[in-house]
Amino acid sequence: METSRIHIKNGTVGVDTGTRTLLGFAYWAKSRQGSIRRTQVARRVLVVEDSAVIRRLIEVCLRPASLEVIMREDGPGGLSAAISEKPDLLVLDIGLPEMDGWEVLDRLRSDPRTRDLPVLVLTAHAEEESRRRADEGGADAFVTKPFQPNDFRQEVLNLLARIAVEAVS
Ligand code: CA
Repeated sequence: METSRIHIKNGTVGVDTGTRTLLGFAYWAKSRQGSIRRTQVARRVLVVEDSAVIRRLIEVCLRPASLEVIMREDGPGGLSAAISEKPDLLVLDIGLPEMDGWEVLDRLRSDPRTRDLPVLVLTAHAEEESRRRADEGGADAFVTKPFQPNDFRQEVLNLLARIAVEAVS
């Protein structure tokens, strides 16, 4: 086991029991009361992306991590799925028709039901401006297209791992 998969935080010890592909990521923690508990496994990913090609690529990227992937093609579909499907993480394309990703992010952040949903913004624009906007809009991570499949998967897994850690701290 790699030491980077062992977290010690606020007197609790957590171990990522994932395999080398991080299959079945789980976070175990010893609570301050001394009992062992397992947090909810964060693995449900909602993807909002209008391009069928990119959706397919994302599916291929995330499959080895055995994540549950839910796909929507536009902003309104993404917003309703963000509530009804209870995802752990949203991968949000910015270049969407009609309602773009910035507006989706805005609406998510102003709705108490989705205010805290972690969002990974996906954009074709690498400019500082997009990065700053993602930051100000409350995005948790930022990936530029085109991306390397492994890098993208790692970003998603890192964010899911952060959620698991935050959930027990
Ligand atoms: Ca797009």
